[in-house]
Order: sequence, then C-alpha cells, then structure tokens
Amino acid sequence: MAKYVYTFTEGNKDLKDLLGGKGANLAEMTNLGLPVPPGFTITTEACRHYLSRGSVPEGLDAEVEANLAELERTMGRRLGQADDPLLVSVRSGARFSMPGMMETVLNIGLNDESVVGLAARSGDERFAWDSYRRLVQMFGRTVQDIEGDLFEEAVEEVKAAKGTTDDLDLDAADFRELVGRFQDIVLERTGRPFPSDPREQMALAVKAVFDSWNAPRAALYRRQERIPADLGTAVNVCAMVFGNLGMDSGTGVAFTRDPASGQPGVYGDYLQNAQGEDVVAGIRNTVPLADLEKIDVRSHAELMGIMDTLENHYRDLCDIEFTIERGKLWMLQTRVGKRTAAAAFRIADQLVDQGMITLDEAVQRVTGDQLAQLMFPRFDEAAVAGAGVRRIGHGMNASPGAAVGKAVFDSYTAVKWSRSGEKVILCRRETNPDDLEGMIAAEGILTSRGGKTSHAAVVARGMGKTCVCGAEEIDVDTKNRRLTAPGGEVVEEGDVISIDGTSGEVYLGEVPVVDSPVVRYFEGEIDPASDQADDLVRSVDRLMHYVDAARRMRVRANADTAEDAARARRMGAQGIGLCRTEHMFLGDRRQLVERLILADTEDEQRDALAELLPLQREDFAGILEAMDGLPVTVRLLDPPLHEFLPDITELSVRVAVAEARGESHENDLRVLQAVHRLHEQNPMLGLRGVRLGLVVPGLFSMQVRAIAQAAVDRMAAGGRPRPEIMIPLVGTVQELEIIREDALRVLREVEREHGVELDFPVGTMIELPRAALTAGEIAENAEFFSFGTNDLTQTVWGFSRDDVEASFFSAYLEKGVFGVSPFESLDVDGVGRLIRIAVEEGRAARPGIKLGVCGEHGGDPASVHFFHRVGLDYVSCSPFRVPVARLEAGRAAGRTAG
Ligand code: ADP
Ligand code: MG
Ligand code: MG
Repeated sequence: MAKYVYTFTEGNKDLKDLLGGKGANLAEMTNLGLPVPPGFTITTEACRHYLSRGSVPEGLDAEVEANLAELERTMGRRLGQADDPLLVSVRSGARFSMPGMMETVLNIGLNDESVVGLAARSGDERFAWDSYRRLVQMFGRTVQDIEGDLFEEAVEEVKAAKGTTDDLDLDAADFRELVGRFQDIVLERTGRPFPSDPREQMALAVKAVFDSWNAPRAALYRRQERIPADLGTAVNVCAMVFGNLGMDSGTGVAFTRDPASGQPGVYGDYLQNAQGEDVVAGIRNTVPLADLEKIDVRSHAELMGIMDTLENHYRDLCDIEFTIERGKLWMLQTRVGKRTAAAAFRIADQLVDQGMITLDEAVQRVTGDQLAQLMFPRFDEAAVAGAGVRRIGHGMNASPGAAVGKAVFDSYTAVKWSRSGEKVILCRRETNPDDLEGMIAAEGILTSRGGKTSHAAVVARGMGKTCVCGAEEIDVDTKNRRLTAPGGEVVEEGDVISIDGTSGEVYLGEVPVVDSPVVRYFEGEIDPASDQADDLVRSVDRLMHYVDAARRMRVRANADTAEDAARARRMGAQGIGLCRTEHMFLGDRRQLVERLILADTEDEQRDALAELLPLQREDFAGILEAMDGLPVTVRLLDPPLHEFLPDITELSVRVAVAEARGESHENDLRVLQAVHRLHEQNPMLGLRGVRLGLVVPGLFSMQVRAIAQAAVDRMAAGGRPRPEIMIPLVGTVQELEIIREDALRVLREVEREHGVELDFPVGTMIELPRAALTAGEIAENAEFFSFGTNDLTQTVWGFSRDDVEASFFSAYLEKGVFGVSPFESLDVDGVGRLIRIAVEEGRAARPGIKLGVCGEHGGDPASVHFFHRVGLDYVSCSPFRVPVARLEAGRAAGRTAG
C-alpha cells in the first residue's frame, strides 16, 4: 500500500517532489541531528488524490493517526491534553513556494480546557491565552476564510482600551478577553462555534491546506511561472515550540551570508517574546542577529554552529527560521536562499575559495539572466540618498534598466515631447495597443496595474525598454495628468521621475545613472587584476574564464558596423554571425536604390549598381578590419526593396501639390508608380531575401564583388579577412544553387583580377520551414547554415511579430497559452523540432557543415542550452548579450549541467 505520511526522520532533502521543500528540508535537518521539533509530513501524493477524487486516499487517516500517536509518545503528551497539551502547527509546503497558498496555523490543540492546562504547566497565564488567541485568529483567517481585519480591529480596540499600542503591554486578562471576542467573530461568521476538538482542528487545517492549492491566486501564479498545476502540496504537522514564553524566548530569521550583497557573515533579525511571523510582520522593532549574543550567549553560539553546519552541508547560502524557548534553540525551517544577481556571483566565487564547491559547480550557481542584470546601467545608490531625490513607490521589475524622464500620461504627449528632444517616462494605469507609439517614444514605462505578463511588460521586454509595472500603491490619474504616491507626493505632467526596471523602485527626481562596472570590465576599461576592480568584477572574471574554457559552442555577435564589430570583439565575440547589409542602402544611398528600381534598361541598372559598389566595399572593409582573423558572415540584402522608397502618403501629397501648382513632377510620379507597383499586402512573405537576388539582376553579385574586393584590400594591408557569404530566405535548393553559382563566379573573377585566392564559404540562412524540412538537399549547396530563428518563429507560428506582440501576446501569456513569448525564448517543441531535423539532415548530407544561429534567441539563456544540446557550432547574438551567451554556453557544457 502507498505510504502517505513520513516522519521527519524518514525524509531527506532530495524528496522535495513528495514532501515539498519545507518538509524535505525539515527531514534533512532532523537527520543531521539538529534540534528540530518532531513531526511528520503528509505527501503531495495524498493531496493530489484528495484534489482529483474529492476525498483523502484510503489509509491516510490511519497513517496520520499512527504518526500522531507516535508524536504524542515522543512528547509524552497528547494533542490538546487538558492538563498538559501537546500543540502542533499545520504548515503548507509545496515543491515551489507560492503566494496564495494557505498559511500556517500555529498552536493547534488549544481549547477552553487545555488553555488552563498550558497556563498551569508553563506557569505563565499570559503566554497561554496569547497562544490561544493566536490559534483562533489564524484558524479563523486561513481555515475558515474570515476577513483578518475583524480580528485586527478587536486587537486594536483592546489595546486602545488599555491606552497602549504595544502588544507587550497586554496581560493575560486582555488576551482572555480577545479569545472571547474572536470566538464570537467565528460564531457570527460561520454560524458555528470555534471547533474545540483538537483532532477536528487538525483535520480541518490539513484539508484547508490541500484546498488552498487551487486558490485563484496560487493558480494564477503557477500559470505565470510555468509551475505544473497538478503537483499538489504537502502538509507538515510539527510539534510547537514557543518563542512567546517571556523575554528569554523569541523567534528569528537568518541567512548564512548577506543575500543582498553576498558578503560573508551571518545576517538576520531576532524578536524577543514573539511567535511565528511576528518577526517579519513588523509589530515591534527587531534586533540584529548579532545582538542575540548579548541576550542569550549560549543559543547564539549554538545557532552560529548550526548555520555553519548547514552551509557546509548544503554547500550554499541557506536561510533559516528559528525559535528560542526559554533558552533552548529550535530550528523550524531552512532552504537554499534566494539572492541578488551580485550576491550570486560573489557567493559562488567565495564558495570556490573555501573549497566547498568546484568551479564547474560555481558556474551552475549563476545564470545568464543574473549576468544580464549586472550589465544594465543602474542608478547611483549614493545619489539616491542625496538631496532632491526620493523613493516614492515600488512596482514589479518587469523589464530591466534605469530610466529617467519627465512624467507623461498619454501616448500622444509622449510622442510629441520626445520629438522635441525631451526624455519622457510614460505613466499609465495599464497600457494597450493604442499606447504603442508612446511606448516607443518613452525612455521607460510605469504602470500601476498588471503583472509581468501585462501588455506593458510584454511589449517593453520585446523592445528592451525599462518597465516597472503593477505599482499598485501609486495612483495614476491620467485625466488630470498626475500621479499620487502612497506617501502623498504628487507628480504632475513634466515632473522628472526615475524608474528602476531591475528593482521595481520609483523615484521622484533625477537619479544619476552610472555604468555597470561589469560592462566596463567586459569593455576592457577595468583590469580585473587592478585596484579598480571590486570583488564582483573579480568574481565575474573568474567564472567567465572558466566558462570560456569549458564551452564547446563559439559565440559570435550580430553587428552591422565596424564600431559594433569592435565592441562585440571586446565583449568576447569570436566573429560575426550576422552582418546585415540593409542599413548600407539607406541615407544618401536611397537615391541610388531609387535609380536601381526605376531603371528602364539593364545599362541604367548596371550604372546604379556600379555606383553602389565602392560604397559597399568601404562598408565591408571596416568590419573585416575590426574582426580581422575571425569569421564575418555577411547576409546579402534581405528586406523588400520598397522599404528603401519614400513613404507612399508623403509622395502622393507631393505629387498632388505639384500637380495643383502645375509644377513638373516627372520623377516623383515615376517613383510613386514604382511604390504602387512594389506595394505588398504582406511584405514579410513577399519579394525579399533570395527572391530579390533572383529578380533584380546584378544586385547580389554587386554585393559579393564588394565583399571580395574589400577582402582583397584587407589582404593587401596585411590583414586576414574571413568573410562568409550568406543567402537569406531560401526555401528551396534551386534558389540557392542559382545565387551560389553566381557568387562563386564573382569570387573567381576577383581572384583572377587580383591574383589572389579567395576561399570564402557560401551558405544560407534556414528561416523557412521548407528550408528546414529539405535541409539535406540544401546542405549539398551550402557550406554553412545559420538558423534565423526570428523569421523561423514567425513562419512556423504564422505570427507577424510586430503585429502580434502588441495586440494579443499579453492575453496569451495571461491565459497560459505559453509561459514565455516564443520570440523571447525558443519554442523548443515546434521551432526547435525543425532545427533538429535540419541539423541531422544537414550533417548527414555534408558532415563538415558549419551550423549556427543568428536570431535573438542566440542570447537567450534557455535557448542557448537547447542549441548546445542539438549540437550547433556557434550562437550569434547582439554584442551586449555576448557575455551572457558565453556564460550559458559554458554552463550548458558543464559536467554538472542539469
Ligand atoms: P512560511 O511558509 O510562511 O514560512 P511556516 O510554516 O514556516 O510558513 O510557518 C510560519 C511561521 O510559524 C514561521 O515563522 C515558523 O517559524 C513558525 N512556526 C511554524 N511551525 C512552528 C512550530 N511548530 N513551532 C513554532 N513556530 C512555528
Ligand atoms: Mg517559514
Ligand atoms: Mg530573416
């Protein structure tokens, strides 16, 4: 028969799925010999059974019975025994902790009789009645769903009658009175008296924990965080220990290192004569953990020893909850603690120094997302404390970065002001697609409603724009163009505010922004061996050295200019995976493109191309120089030609005006006709990529010639250019064959002209499903593949990114259709499957084929791990993401990679 209950001596830390995080770690501490009050855990399996069938599994009651009996034997008291009651807590504890789940109920087992026994045994009547009123209050609130305010109000009334605001001034009689009042509230709200039978109390509390798995807030949280809905929660029943037994008792929380900075040394808070959450609820001022040494030197010493044991055992930062009962220390919880990005790097580095973990393990303790956080410019903390700047509110850290600007309250003003050179922060209750222009114009976005999947959050992340969302305490009044902070500060339109998308803080005034020292290190401005480098930079440096040696995949950058290429190289890029050429056709060169499009004869066309050629050659020379010795994949022109023509409305107006005035407008009219001719309903699927190369004679060969000549120039200057020619948007091998032959012909011509050898690979992007599905054939004509995962995602899903992201992605995320946008993180099941097919068939057809990826996914941590698994040779991403990709490629290759 299945086993549904485990005593704390039976479990261990690896049983989190079955016992939940709290239960597994309570068991682990018990087995380490630490002072944990005895108890048992009811498994998640029992919960799953209860939730799916509506009743607890057969045998569970008997098992609980047996375990309780065993607990009673150990403690020498029965649950709720009138003259000397055993009390227990009933604590929820899922695999992942979740807001909205039922909170813990303490002091189960008290009733009108046992409270007297507890008073007599402890010799402390105040303590007994305080414990009892806590039970009725917590039970009423969490098990019976009674509004907590009712209980709070009663407490306030009793305090007021006493003329105090401090709970320490309340005596036994006050608490006894509160118990009476609380029992009345329960009777009134539920129609039944407070359950006095201790076993009934326990059973009701256990069921309430089970049921709370499906509480709306918990369900929403799971959908958003991609936590499976069917895991269920465990329930822990634990003998009570009492921190509210006088000033020699108390309760506290602690971390084995500072989770904010990562600095070594314990860190925590302690509160005398208190129970449970009192220490974090802010009812009285806590004292720093160090002061416990003065209050109770023995318990303090024991606690320090235990924290040491825990760190050595978990080999990581732990956070703990403890209680001291009349000078005796008890451990109530531990887990590997959450930490900031900076702390993660520092701690990983320290643990290596201490010999606790290997470097390989250390790099598994940090993530690319954390590194990315450290790379954003941030507000100067010293200045925040300074004059003129005040923190006025807090929201969710939806999209990282630090933005400063004048508050504006609608999209129109955002656009108008930004056009006149003002920096603005768009403040809205929430955003919708109508706000898009304003969001683009703004430095950052602040909303008072909606979570990390709200429209504002999704769109801001897509644009890489700073966003703080769901700052519920801030009242945004768009009608009167002002917002009001909880402290009463009013921000009118035009007042400067600063928002921190990494922490979620909102400030009134201009907070100075400082460059990240980590970026300055990557840029080569800070030498990690010098005094300039702090311990964070040194930690990052050490881990980066390790991952660079460990990773199999290379990391390239997407860069279109010599400056970007140089920057990417400083950031550690090992080449360029995508050099787009479209920007090279803009600006002054538009006229040449116009001439190319309008040409009536092949001669005219050839002339236009001939003028573009030297300009293109210059473009490539700079990039090849910046990346000397490293591969540079140049993509031939990709976007539809009409993107280079003037705007249709502007042009129509110009023609109409000229006509009305009777002026000559021959050229404009011709261009307008061309614009109409080239107009496409759906340009993404129209005349672009290789299709352009096939229908505009000479365009691609001009580009290839420019690349070849630039390379020849570089060689003459002593350089080692390594261009690679990439053909975009190929759907069938025939397209590629034609263009490739032409490209090779041009290369041979240039070789003959200059008497050099130009052995440059020619390959293709794989960005259409058909290309992936026929990758074997395509590989016979391609020396490399580069997966263009942006377009591949668009074409696999049938999504036009610019349209869908702003219009309905937020609804999709909220309904849980997907947990993360497929443009942010690769859709492994769909797009990833096509990549797998193309990798296998491409390699089968051409074993030495070089495979890479150049979509934005190349810099996304989860996607990088996927690319490692399918065996790509390199990823390519924006220069700024190069360090993130290096780190994740190294983590993916690590021995302990999970
Ligand atoms: P959470 O998941 O919110 O941390 P816990 O189950 O840890 O909830 O319990 C809430 C509070 O009650 C914590 O401060 C915890 O230390 C305290 N607590 C839980 N069980 C006991 C117990 N048996 N004796 C004393 N305090 C307890
Ligand atoms: Mg806890
Ligand atoms: Mg593309």
